[in-house]
Amino acid sequence: MANDLFNSFMTGPDDKGRFGDFGGRFVSETLMPLILSLEEEYEKAKDDPEFWEEMNYLWQHYVGRPSPLYYAEGMTKRLGGAKIYLKRDELNHTGAHKVNNVLGQILLARRMGKTRIIAETGAGQHGVATATVCAKFGLKCVVYMGAHDVARQKPNVFRMKLLGAEVIAVESGRGTLKDAMNDALRDWVTNVHDTFYCIGTAAGPHPYPAMVRDFQSIIGKEVRWQLAEQEGEGRLPDTVIAAIGGGSNAIGLFHPFLDDKEVNIIGVEAGGKGVNDDMEHCASLTGGRPGVLHGNRTFLLQDDDGQILDGYSISAGLDYPGIGPEHSWLHQIGRAEYVSITDKEALEAFQFSCESEGIIPALEPCHALAHVMKIAGDLPKDHIIVMNMCGRGDKDIFTVARHLGVDLSGLEGRDSD
Ligand SMILES: *Cc1c(COP(=O)(O)O)cnc(C)c1O
Repeated sequence: MANDLFNSFMTGPDDKGRFGDFGGRFVSETLMPLILSLEEEYEKAKDDPEFWEEMNYLWQHYVGRPSPLYYAEGMTKRLGGAKIYLKRDELNHTGAHKVNNVLGQILLARRMGKTRIIAETGAGQHGVATATVCAKFGLKCVVYMGAHDVARQKPNVFRMKLLGAEVIAVESGRGTLKDAMNDALRDWVTNVHDTFYCIGTAAGPHPYPAMVRDFQSIIGKEVRWQLAEQEGEGRLPDTVIAAIGGGSNAIGLFHPFLDDKEVNIIGVEAGGKGVNDDMEHCASLTGGRPGVLHGNRTFLLQDDDGQILDGYSISAGLDYPGIGPEHSWLHQIGRAEYVSITDKEALEAFQFSCESEGIIPALEPCHALAHVMKIAGDLPKDHIIVMNMCGRGDKDIFTVARHLGVDLSGLEGRDSD
């Protein structure tokens, strides 16, 4: 595979934070010193065994890592082809992979002497993970959330408040995720003396995409030794597959395998109601084009005038309007394949997981599973697929009920009874 930038796919980005034509640092001059000092601190922490010792301790005892690598025998038998393994990141504390990264950034914030953490959130899951770790360390937590999202994500807003966070409803623009990102960046510039900006996906200005990827790479690193343990020394997956919002759980699974050319890599975007001109989807790679947002250059959902669009998916966690720059690069050079899955297909995968394995999945990884369901049957029985089950489905049962035509009205919000 032609790659004249790096000797290895795993050494990116370059010193300007670029993955080929993507990534970089598109920020105002006032933000530049903050970004540079963050980069310097991260480079120091990355090489400090004490930093990783603390991470590993908390990953194990607070998050519950390593998450199991589970041979999904029921799925495998029903699909009748490839052998399917699920990486069970839905079993982490807070129910998804997001805490892997939040923990890393907050340990870094503590090293930098910061006492106030800000974050932006769309569906609220990154906000909840950030509020959780802030509560643990007694840090002040402020979460920016579009006013529109605050109204439609009440349970997560309540969770964040229980955890002691302040939730600021952003009224500007359309009151969604990208408006919340702008306000978080503004807050950071104003309060830099005590504030750390915790980004929830593998996007943002350099060094965030690389830093978030490094923290999430624990997923793929565990898969390497766990699969060897179950399938024999040196056995790698034939295919790894994950759902993509901004792309953090996916790059965390993919990155440790980028240099193993025999491993197929597949990212699955949210196709919503279908990837067409109406833009009722969130497939930035399959249905968008390059532009600049959130401090980096990458594939984005935009209209003909370059206006960023909000996108749509049944799964709120996938409706990031762009995709992390490393994915745009892997797409461009052909190292990874990107496909999309519709709401309808994801719902079918949801039911399949419940029935075949007794696992109620989040709607996000259902997109990856739906693609597994498309390809597994045609693959030989000795082909190993590892899919990241990146979140659990408790949060999604009301959405699923609505789409299946089941009336749970009156119970909404009582999902823990
Ligand atoms: C947030 C979220 C996603 C999307 O984020 P990525 O950065 O693409 O991983 C996917 N699945 C779940 C369960 C999430 O909470």
